[in-house]
Amino acid sequence: MRIDLHTHTVLSDGTDTPRELIQAAAAAGLDVLAITDHDTTAGWQEAVDALPSGMTLIRGAELSCVSTSEQGWPISVHLLAYLFDPDAQALVAEQRRLRAERRERLRRMAERMAADGLPIDPEAVLASLPADGSAGRPHLARALIEAGLVSSVSEAFDKYLGSRGRYYVRRADTPVRRAVAMIAEAGGVTVLAHPWAYSRGPTVGEDVIAELAAAGLTGIEVDHPDHDPATRQRLRGLAAELGLLTTGSSDYHGANKPTPIGAETTDPEVYEQLVARATGRPPVRG
Ligand code: AMP
Ligand code: ZN
Ligand code: FE
Ligand code: FE
Repeated sequence: MRIDLHTHTVLSDGTDTPRELIQAAAAAGLDVLAITDHDTTAGWQEAVDALPSGMTLIRGAELSCVSTSEQGWPISVHLLAYLFDPDAQALVAEQRRLRAERRERLRRMAERMAADGLPIDPEAVLASLPADGSAGRPHLARALIEAGLVSSVSEAFDKYLGSRGRYYVRRADTPVRRAVAMIAEAGGVTVLAHPWAYSRGPTVGEDVIAELAAAGLTGIEVDHPDHDPATRQRLRGLAAELGLLTTGSSDYHGANKPTPIGAETTDPEVYEQLVARATGRPPVRG
């Protein structure tokens, strides 16, 4: 059984439609796929409708969260949420707020670039964003590529979009403990996404992961393209200590990232445990 539990579509910052995502998963020989767009469940239905016989879909999302460092700085945390009720009230309200903030923040980043003389049109950037999905920096990366300023999404992050760069605008993401609780209330399970992907910016320490484990976190994503072998080994040790499940996933973004779908996978026994612990929306079998 081949299982990939972290993928994106055009409803956030991937480049495949949900239908194309399912086709890519089938071509890669995956048996179980999770759709986990940032802060939206808008791609679920199309993915369900496209499901071929024999493939199982886990309906999920990747929630934009924040933790606070000892010095009081915000630390961005991504939380994978699976098998939850997408109509749970607190969750619906928070995701709507976040999607609005994502658009506004991208507009402000584009305006800063334009004010600096870069050939970026904030109105055109806004028009390129998914109407009922989530806007993200990769959308701005596409605009930078089209303007001829960079030749790849990762170059756009290095030169213009990184959290330490001059155009970066912060977002008020959901406190991660609150997000874990909201998903638990909605019958879902939570897995900390790429917890130690240092290249993206500051990451949470073992103490925060321990607190989240005590607060109901189900697992951590260990096998992720942004984790080197030593990091994976340390995370596996931590998970064993804290009684957390460990997953592996590609974090596929279509043409916005080089990692192919199915490049990293989750152990079938771990997958079964995730499903057993959820009471919200069951897996869909095609
Ligand atoms: P945002 O959600 O707007 O903060 O943008 C974060 C998204 O950009 C995440 O989905 C990442 O997958 C992607 N991302 C972050 N850093 C990089 C990078 N260095 N190169 C390419 N994509 C990145
Ligand atoms: Zn993304
Ligand atoms: Fe992420
Ligand atoms: Fe992701």
